Amino acid sequence: MDGGQTTKRKLKVATASLAGCFGCHMSLLDIDERLVDLLELVELDRSPLTDLKQIGECDLGLVEGGIGNVENLEVLREFRRHCKLLVAVGACAVNGGIPAMRNNFALRDCLEEAFIDGVGVHNPGVPNDRELPLLLNQVHPIHEIVKVDYFLPGCPPSADAIWTFLTELLEGKPISLPYTQLHYD
Ligand code: SF4
Repeated sequence: MDGGQTTKRKLKVATASLAGCFGCHMSLLDIDERLVDLLELVELDRSPLTDLKQIGECDLGLVEGGIGNVENLEVLREFRRHCKLLVAVGACAVNGGIPAMRNNFALRDCLEEAFIDGVGVHNPGVPNDRELPLLLNQVHPIHEIVKVDYFLPGCPPSADAIWTFLTELLEGKPISLPYTQLHYD
């Protein structure tokens, strides 16, 4: 009972940054004061913004970044299991983006360039701590691993594009981004 007032359930939203640069999360924060409106409608679950480490059952999962290591794989599969709708946010999640540029080279060559032979490397040596997640030979867009319900392109998608996407989705409207939010020249 709520004294005659109906309380609308907030949608649960989780976000993750996998093989990305956090720029898409920064763009989400860039919706500025509209965050207050958004938080009237949604409750954040696992996310770098809440620092919650476990994901609960969620309505929406926003995934930034592609899949470059085994931890990315585990997190993505967990998001798919727990989120009714999964969104690839940004170029890295949609098609691998900048991290996938390493797919043109052997993983060993990338590691040697980064940690042994590269310009400015001091104390050379490839990190091999057992705590570090094992790198995959290739970086994958997330749709190669799990079913994805929506793709939100851009590097990063602009704050306005994220806002349009979220509000139309939450209102149950067909997603329709104007051209100005989808061109990158
Ligand atoms: Fe960063 Fe661009 Fe990848 Fe988003 S799409 S994580 S902004 S590199």
